[in-house]
Amino acid sequence: MRLAELGEFGLIDRIKKNVAASPSVLLGIGDDAAALVPAPECVTLITCDMLLEAVHFDLSFCDPESLGRKSLSVNLSDLASMGAHPRQFLLGIALGKEVPIEFMDRFMAGVLEQAERFGATLVGGDTCASKGGIAISITALGEQRPELVLKRSGARPGDLICLSGTVGDAAAGLEALRQGVREGFLVSRQLDPTPRVAAGVALAEGGLATAMIDVSDGVLGDLGHIREMSGVGARLELAKLPLSDEYRAACGDDPYALALSGGEDYELLFCIDPVKRGEVEALFAKLELKFSVIGEITAAPEVKLVAPDGGVYAPGHGGFDHFG
Ligand code: ADP
Ligand code: MG
Repeated sequence: MRLAELGEFGLIDRIKKNVAASPSVLLGIGDDAAALVPAPECVTLITCDMLLEAVHFDLSFCDPESLGRKSLSVNLSDLASMGAHPRQFLLGIALGKEVPIEFMDRFMAGVLEQAERFGATLVGGDTCASKGGIAISITALGEQRPELVLKRSGARPGDLICLSGTVGDAAAGLEALRQGVREGFLVSRQLDPTPRVAAGVALAEGGLATAMIDVSDGVLGDLGHIREMSGVGARLELAKLPLSDEYRAACGDDPYALALSGGEDYELLFCIDPVKRGEVEALFAKLELKFSVIGEITAAPEVKLVAPDGGVYAPGHGGFDHFG
């Protein structure tokens, strides 16, 4: 069966049936607007990300379930980078009438699987027929106490620059997909990233970080946002960049180019006071997540990239820019 036969309201009913109730939701899907119950003493953090067919995803590369999970993951990653607990989300989707219902069922199974895993509830959205490809827009809401929210602007000279996980994998995975590879670690890092929600929340609630961002546009580009908003510079030691074995095997002669500029790893890039290092290491050990210190924040507003031989490394470009 195709969506044309099910109709807009048939589809919304089909989505609604699979959504679990939550104490934070007074009214969910079905009314003109959702009614949410705020947690005491918290502010709401709200973020929106679009995924467009042919721009952000290629249906010949991914299955509908992983597209569903990733659509939510990229939003959850933005909440994680602020140190917020995910709470609710809205899903806007436009797709062609000829799309099989099975596609939508599998896409929604992925969305709702990721929602359950990270404690977010679908509370509404909008559904439209598209005449040119699929467009997905998710708006996610999170909560945190205002004094704990982590911003891009808090980095200070002397802070250590840190990363969760490994970088460059998602960009190498995209390259592998373009060459016809359809499985393996790098491909799954591109198609099905894990938002670092527990780490983001714990860094905020432990008062452990001074500034944080998620790596969506590449380490250099995203570090650039922290630098600009904090009015600081940075010194990065390339030998300390966390690179997976799979990435090293795939990256060719220069392991640093893609690790610095490749986007979509959705790892956390954050700054800490050096006195907190032991506490942060213990936190990441408990979360079973890799933790690396890759450099330090400097007062001079430039970025210095130190190559493994101690020389200066010159990068190709700074990160992904949609209009670049
Ligand atoms: P309106 O026309 O008043 O904006 P709609 O008919 O678009 O309302 O939507 C009816 C209900 O279904 C609303 O509660 C809306 O939030 C929800 N809804 C619509 N599309 C989706 C979707 N893709 N996912 C989840 N909820 C949706
Ligand atoms: Mg509507």
